[in-house]
Amino acid sequence: MTDLPTLQSIDARTGLPSGEPWAASTPDQIAAAVNAAADAAVAWAASTGTARARLLRGLADALEANRERLVPLADRETALGMARLNGELDRTAFQLRGFADAAEQGAPFAVQDDPPVAGGPPAGRPRLTRVRVPLGPVAMFAASNFPFAFSVLGGDTASALAAGCPVVVKGHPAHPALSRQTVALARQVLARQQLPAGLIGFVEGAGVATGVQLVQADAIAAVAFTGSFAGGTALAKVAAERPRPIPFFGELGSINPVIVLPQALTGDATELAQTLAGSICQGSGQFCTSPGVIVVQKDAAGDAFVQALTTQLAGLSPHAMLTAGIRRAFDTGIARWRGTPGVRTLLADVAQADDTPRPCLAEVDAATFVADASLHEEVFGAAALVVRTGAPLQAIDVLRAVGGSLTVTLWGVDASANAPDPATLELVRTASQVAGRVLFDGVPTGVAVTAAQQHGGPFPASTAPATTSVGYAALDRFLRPVALQDAPAWLVERRGVPC
Ligand code: NAP
Repeated sequence: MTDLPTLQSIDARTGLPSGEPWAASTPDQIAAAVNAAADAAVAWAASTGTARARLLRGLADALEANRERLVPLADRETALGMARLNGELDRTAFQLRGFADAAEQGAPFAVQDDPPVAGGPPAGRPRLTRVRVPLGPVAMFAASNFPFAFSVLGGDTASALAAGCPVVVKGHPAHPALSRQTVALARQVLARQQLPAGLIGFVEGAGVATGVQLVQADAIAAVAFTGSFAGGTALAKVAAERPRPIPFFGELGSINPVIVLPQALTGDATELAQTLAGSICQGSGQFCTSPGVIVVQKDAAGDAFVQALTTQLAGLSPHAMLTAGIRRAFDTGIARWRGTPGVRTLLADVAQADDTPRPCLAEVDAATFVADASLHEEVFGAAALVVRTGAPLQAIDVLRAVGGSLTVTLWGVDASANAPDPATLELVRTASQVAGRVLFDGVPTGVAVTAAQQHGGPFPASTAPATTSVGYAALDRFLRPVALQDAPAWLVERRGVPC
């Protein structure tokens, strides 16, 4: 008998269990995974870019070689669809290889070398060589909505390994069988490369205890979390209250405002409305970058756009959501909107709990939105709130009320002007203060993996707004600078590779 919670693979479309349940990791198993990561940490920190690249490319190859097995399993556990999941596996392999290139090209080993200057201070100085050392084992929390790209071998794992840190992954209970199979593949790659299994540790649980024990483990040096606001803030508190507090890189939910300026609506609004409706419903709205607030001026063109958006959304059919719990939270969020004074329902369809969800669109005026903090919370799913402004500058008040977001999209900013007007400057400045990524075209869903990418943003989008969880700068999170003063030649000659 065990009182540990059980994990169960569930068919996300039918809600029916698949296979037998199994017990969550025991406290001893969690401790063993952390110890194995700690044992692997020193050698991995001193590994070369070539060794790190070989591992990351091996993991990418393994994912691709097992696509036929992994993608259908992911589809059964998440209902995200084969096309999307094949694309997500491609992205995950691309990302692993991108971090392999970054490690090989020396990104984790960048050195700033200041030669000595004779004489007294402030101009005179010793030789200073600034290098970076890996933090140590990283606790990595997978998200439910990206079973490849933000899960066992996702961006956090890739960037931590590239930085020279082992990971201990807390698998997400919404895709437990996929997580286990991915871990088994990773273990095979590690064994083939004669690397310790502790480099990619794994714990699983369906309840808060597993994650809390992992974050509290003494040898854990940092946490990378992707998930909900509630989960992220709870675990950030655990990380901060340890006897030795550790960095917590939490990527949380977001409402991603889209500001539709009047200049964007001078032509046919249908195409824009179609694009936006597609983004709102993509993946049944289960994207951290899903556009949740659409700011539109109250005038005839704005009315026509909102009508077109309503029509387009009404014609879309989101698929089943990831879990029954996420579906309940979606229904609760919509009911909250509908019960909020001043919020008007634009799409009145409500699906029964056991039917696939219907998209939700509601409307509120800007002053009500700004004044009611509950309307600034993410409703995770295919839902958006249209906020109607009396003048373009009121969009700035809306952004300030949102406070922090992964993205802000500005449609209709004049690209032809050499000297933008003060109102445009103020809008762009405010968007940059509020978001990690500011878009001047397109929709926020879809986050390219590049060196220039920034996926984060002021709280509540992220608990560490100076960092990114997507793109190659993500590995900087797991490196701590050290200034070597008058270091011996053998140490300087390591060119940033820790000893
Ligand atoms: P979640 O429910 O917060 O779960 C994430 C992980 O945190 C799970 O392993 C969960 O474990 C654990 N957890 C949650 N609350 C905890 C607590 N109080 N103590 C300890 N562990 C806890 O999130 P989700 O369902 O995966 O994801 C949906 C959310 O993630 C959405 O809000 C979405 O916007 C956001 N998201 C953000 C990004 C981004 O990059 N910013 C990307 C994807 C998703 P158990 O389930 O075992 O308790």
